[in-house]
Amino acid sequence: MAYPISATRLNLYKSCPQSYYFRYERGLKEQSAFGSPALGKAVHAALKDIYGDWNYGHPKPSLEWFELMWQAHTGDLSSKQVDDGWSMLKGYFEQFIEPYPSMNKPLGVEQGIKGKFQVRYIEFVVRGQYDRLDYIEDGLELIDYKTTKQMSPPDAIDIQLGLYDLLLKQVYGQALRKLSLIYLRSGEKKPYEVTPEHRRESQRLIENLAMQLHREEEWRPQEGQQCDRCSYERYCAAKREVPEPLPETARKPKGMQLLLPL
Ligand code: SF4
Repeated sequence: MAYPISATRLNLYKSCPQSYYFRYERGLKEQSAFGSPALGKAVHAALKDIYGDWNYGHPKPSLEWFELMWQAHTGDLSSKQVDDGWSMLKGYFEQFIEPYPSMNKPLGVEQGIKGKFQVRYIEFVVRGQYDRLDYIEDGLELIDYKTTKQMSPPDAIDIQLGLYDLLLKQVYGQALRKLSLIYLRSGEKKPYEVTPEHRRESQRLIENLAMQLHREEEWRPQEGQQCDRCSYERYCAAKREVPEPLPETARKPKGMQLLLPL
């Protein structure tokens, strides 16, 4: 049986092994560790439709098309969220669509991808989800939309670059050249280039993390800024003198030994 890892999983593991344990080993899914706000989901869904449903026989969509796609995803949002989301999409249109003669057709939008690789005798399944994948001159460019106010680079950008390069080579047979983060609140695009050295280093880091994950017996809490956004705080011995017991719905720990060959 292969052990699943993903950029999200590795990110969470790197931030705090104990929150990883609550989320993925005990399956406390209803409490997403670092949140997944409805507004972000709705904006991502609208951008998926904007690119996915457009008829590329025409050069580019209008702002009305953006509005139509946005309206289909506002049902669960407050009126402030609807305004916020529209302001992000309008800004995106003005920055990335309006000045250009046409909108290029992406290779994919909001797609899950899956690959497998071996670290010693352990098989890992790697799953990822990208917002958009574009062809560029000599390879591929991944686009990741950000709806957060914070614009600092993600902590584990190396993990994402390495993992996606590995995956995209398996799935599309082409190298990832860059990952670009588009901050929708400010309209800024920040590209991160992937170099050969970067690839090697990223892969090494991923493998080390994966092996550590495999050997981990004590899922130690790692306190830091991430605690402010962690919804497992009530179960955490580092934060509570008397942590709450895990709910009965929590999955029994499966133990890595189940993944080893007999
Ligand atoms: S509260 Fe902090 S230390 Fe505790 S599980 Fe969450 S992130 Fe980890």
